[in-house]
Formats: sequence, structure tokens, C-alpha cells
Amino acid sequence: EKIIELKGVERHYVQGPRKLTILNGAEFSLRRGEMVALVAPSGAGKSTLLHTAGLLEKPDAGDVILAGRACGRLSDDARTSIRRNDIGFVYQFHHLLPEFSAIENVMLPQLVKGLAPAEARARAGQLLEYMQIGKRGQHRPSELSGGEQQRVAIARAVANAPLVLLADEPTGNLDPVTASYVFDALFALVRQSGLAALIATHNHELAGRMDRRVTLADGKVVPL
Ligand code: ADP
Ligand code: ADP
Repeated sequence: EKIIELKGVERHYVQGPRKLTILNGAEFSLRRGEMVALVAPSGAGKSTLLHTAGLLEKPDAGDVILAGRACGRLSDDARTSIRRNDIGFVYQFHHLLPEFSAIENVMLPQLVKGLAPAEARARAGQLLEYMQIGKRGQHRPSELSGGEQQRVAIARAVANAPLVLLADEPTGNLDPVTASYVFDALFALVRQSGLAALIATHNHELAGRMDRRVTLADGKVVPL
């Protein structure tokens, strides 16, 4: 069962007099519970692929199918609303809100969605437990280590139980040992929640632990 599917996706950028083709008929899909590594050099188009899959950017051609529904070419408002419910993002830098505690950061997307605070708090606490930082919930981001901050960012990304988790170098800012531990928690979370995850990483050891590895070649997604 395909959770997300890219079909014939094209993305072009105009840079001055030049037209850059980044995605050129890209085909890709993720199944439930699957974790796939996206490994490609800088500038190859990883962010473009993640942003298109995550409905942040519209494909110039082709489409993004989420749980059977064609979404890539819907209006900005429609894509934003689908994105808030069905897509979780994690970036290299956590983008947590500094004035809120860890647990509040994980509660926020749920409150925006309309969940009652008690429910949001319970789920946030559980997610922090899964990420093995249950005891750090009351701390602000600045009081947490880099690895702990990324654990919170991952918990926040899945707070609304998205279908798909998209991550752009989620441990790129961490030392290898910390990165490996954060990944252990991320793996466990993906496996137990039945999410599908596409994770861009330069770390070959971590890529090797995922179910599959893909790269970008001539604007297409190909096995690595
Ligand atoms: P990666 O994430 O693999 O480093 P990106 O998807 O960020 O690659 O970028 C791929 C190429 O597209 C780069 O050459 C980049 O300069 C170009 N690019 C990305 N976004 C834009 C944009 N908004 N306008 C013009 N060019 C862009
Ligand atoms: P919200 O209103 O909840 O912030 P958004 O639609 O603005 O929702 O964004 C949803 C997710 O996409 C957030 O994780 C946000 O950080 C990310 N995001 C929004 N815009 C961009 C962008 N231009 N590039 C990369 N990520 C983005």
C-alpha cells in the first residue's frame, strides 16, 4: 500500500537566463512503515524533492498522490491544510519556539488543529517518552542539548499523526554518536506508528540502516 507517490514530477527553476531542471519525470513511492534514505550531493535537488513531496512546492508537471488522493497540484490553501494534517517535517536545525517548553512545542500543532489541551499534553508526553526525553519536557529548547532538541523536533513533526515524515538532514548538526542515538529513537517511532519516512542524510552508516536508499540522477529518483 503506497502512502505517498510521486508521478512524473518535474521542477524547474529559472536562474537569470538559465532554466535549471531539478526534477525531470521523478517517480517515487513510500509504503507504510518504510524508512528510505535520500543520499545525494549538495545541489542535487534533495530539498526540492522533499518540499515537492511535502506539498510546500507545486510540481511544474506530474503529481503527488497522498493516500490515493492527487494533491500536488491543488491550491496553496488546500495543500497547506493537507500538509498540516498529513505531513511532518524535520529540518537540520530544529526551529523549536524558544519561549515554550519542549512539551508545549509538541502540543502546539495539536492545539492549532483543535485538540483539547489535556489531550494534546498527554500525546506530547507520550511522544517525548518514545523519543526517550520524557524527563526533559519542562525544559526550554535552549536548556536542551542538540540531540535532545532534535528529538523534540521529531516528536513535534509527528504530533498530529501524519502519514508521512520528511526529514532534511535531521542529524546533520550532531556528532556521529548522538546522531546514531537520535536515529534509534526515530526508527522506533516510525516502526511503531506505521509512518512512512523519507530522510535526506549524508551519513552512510545511518543510510545503511534504513530499508532502502535512493539518490537523484538526471532529475530522477533512482536506487542507490
Ligand atoms: P539539495 O537539497 O540537494 O542541496 P536543492 O533542492 O536545494 O538541492 O537545490 C537544487 C538546485 O536548485 C540547486 O542548484 C539550487 O541552487 C537550485 N534551487 C533551489 N531552489 C531554488 C529556487 N527557489 N530558485 C532558483 N534555484 C533554486
Ligand atoms: P504552520 O502554519 O503550522 O506553520 P505551514 O504551512 O506554514 O504551517 O508549514 C508547515 C510545515 O512546513 C512547517 O514545519 C514549516 O516549518 C514548514 N515550512 C513552511 N514553509 C516552508 C518553506 N518555504 N520551506 C521549507 N519549509 C517550510
